[in-house]
Order: sequence, then structure tokens, then C-alpha cells
Amino acid sequence: IRQRDIKTFYRYNREMDRVAQERLDLTRDLRRALENDQFELHYQPKVDLATGTVKGCEALIRWLHPVRGMLMPGQFISVAEQSQLIGPIGDWVLFQACRHLRQWQDAGLDLVQVSVNVSVDQFRLGDFTHKVRDALETHAIDPAALTLEITESVFSDESELLRRQINDLHALGVRLSLDDFGTGYSSLLYLQQYPFDEIKIDMGFVRRILDDPLNRNIVSMILGISQVLGADTVAEGVENTAVRDALLELGCHIGQGYYYSMPLEVEDFRWLLEKHS
Ligand code: C2E
Ligand code: CA
Ligand code: CA
Ligand code: CA
Repeated sequence: IRQRDIKTFYRYNREMDRVAQERLDLTRDLRRALENDQFELHYQPKVDLATGTVKGCEALIRWLHPVRGMLMPGQFISVAEQSQLIGPIGDWVLFQACRHLRQWQDAGLDLVQVSVNVSVDQFRLGDFTHKVRDALETHAIDPAALTLEITESVFSDESELLRRQINDLHALGVRLSLDDFGTGYSSLLYLQQYPFDEIKIDMGFVRRILDDPLNRNIVSMILGISQVLGADTVAEGVENTAVRDALLELGCHIGQGYYYSMPLEVEDFRWLLEKHS
């Protein structure tokens, strides 16, 4: 082995140690984040593409870390999943989103839907359906006003427990949305077996809709599948009018994206609703 390789090896090892240490630190901080009230939900409107009307919103979690500043979910959700903390954090998200929806409805604002992202690990903990029922009852929310966004990774776990919970949630009347469609494990067989009310076209497809004809056909095909299943289709990552127009032309009616709005702090989102009501 040459000297240089040995040096590279040690540098690599140090880097690995640093990454591992950072995860440990995050896990430790995450344990305290809930009790210290460091999480916040931001809301991004879901918009009727033809009229610009706000149809609902998606809750997206942020962590106001005391030292590192605002952390995005990509920086800590996987740490939460691996440390079992996703259970209590997910419950907090659910209750907080229902609480906000109750406030908006009490203020007479015209908002019918709130969507919450759910990690597959939350189903593995077993009492998720109970938590959803509890959150809805606590804040007197109509089950049909809550949408749970689940990614295709739900299909990688064929457990009976999971299937039963999805069916229970459906029976409860909450809406189920398949997030990031087309990027994971979906097969037509699964789609047929699970009662999804909504399919979200991943922004990877949406953003290439103008410059790639094949991609455009894929979006068109996803819309066709949704229609067969009787599900709504939501396009994520709508960033300009050209993409919006292309989506409308293909028959997609609901979208989210920076063209309409970034995810907003709750006060700003409320202001947006007031402007629209
Ligand atoms: P997602 O569910 O696919 O959410 C969409 C992401 O795209 C959000 O990133 C949003 O801010 C961003 N986005 C929205 N419009 C645009 C656009 O026009 N252009 C671009 N480039 N990006 C756009 P964010 O907030 O960083 O969330 C990342 C992911 O973290 C989410 O992806 C979701 O899978 C996960 N996540 C967020 N909140 C929660 C939560 O409360 N619980 C769980 N389990 N996961 C969450
Ligand atoms: Ca989502
Ligand atoms: Ca998504
Ligand atoms: Ca995504």
C-alpha cells in the first residue's frame, strides 16, 4: 500500500467519524426538541390550477435548532425514523395541523383540507389509527378534511398490520394520498389494492414536462391511472406559468409549487387565506 492511500484512508475514516458523530448529536438534540417546543409547521397551498383558488394546504415540518438554526426535514426526518422519535414527532405534527385547521375554520376562513406527511415507520408503531382518531376528535375536525400523504415505501412492507391500518384509516373517512408517485415501489397491483384518494406526481416529472416529450407522456399516463382509480391528481413543484399551462392541457387540475407560494409560517399562511376568503 502506498503512503498516499494510507493518508486517504485515514482522511476517509475521519470523515466517517464526523458524519456518525453528527448523527449522534442530532439524535440527542432531537430528544429534547419536542419538550422544548422547537418544531414548527409551515404550510404550502394546494391550488386549483385553472382559477388560482386555494383548495387546501400541505403541512411541512421545520426544526428551529437552538445552535444550527432552521433545519429542513431532509436534515432530520431520517434521524427521527432511525431513533423511534418519529412516533412522538409524527403525533405532534398531526395534532398541530388539526389545531391550526380548527383555528382557520373558527375564523371563518375558506379552507377545507389539510395534508400531513406520514412516515411508514409511524404505521409500524401500531397505534397510528388511534392517534388520528384522537387528533380529529380533540379538534372537532371532519375526517374528510384531513389528508395523509404516504410515500410508495409503504409498499415495501407487505405486513398485514400495515394493510389493516390503511383500511381502518380509509374506513374512518380520512383521505389517503400517494406521495412522490413514480419514484419508488408502485405497481399497478398495489395501487389497485390500496384505497388512495389522491396521487401526487413527483416534481421530478413535473419540472421536465416542457422539455422532454417522453416525460410529458409519463405525466399523461399517471393522470390516466389516477382517473381509472377515481383518485385526484396533484402536481408538485409547479414553478412557472408554462408548466401550469402544460399541466392543465394534460388534464391535471391541482398543483403546488413556488409559482404559487413557498411553504409559509402559520401567520403568513393565515394572511394568505384571509386575502383569498
Ligand atoms: P414532499 O412531501 O415531497 O414535500 C415537497 C417538498 O418540496 C417540500 O420540501 C417543499 O418545500 C418543496 N417544494 C414545494 N414546492 C416546490 C417547488 O416549486 N420547487 C421546489 N424545488 N421545491 C418545492 P421540504 O419542506 O424540505 O420537505 C421535504 C420532505 O420532507 C417532504 O417531501 C416530506 O417527504 C418530508 N416531510 C416534511 N414534513 C414532514 C413531516 O411532518 N413528517 C414526515 N414524516 N415527513 C415530512
Ligand atoms: Ca408530501
Ligand atoms: Ca411529494
Ligand atoms: Ca418529493
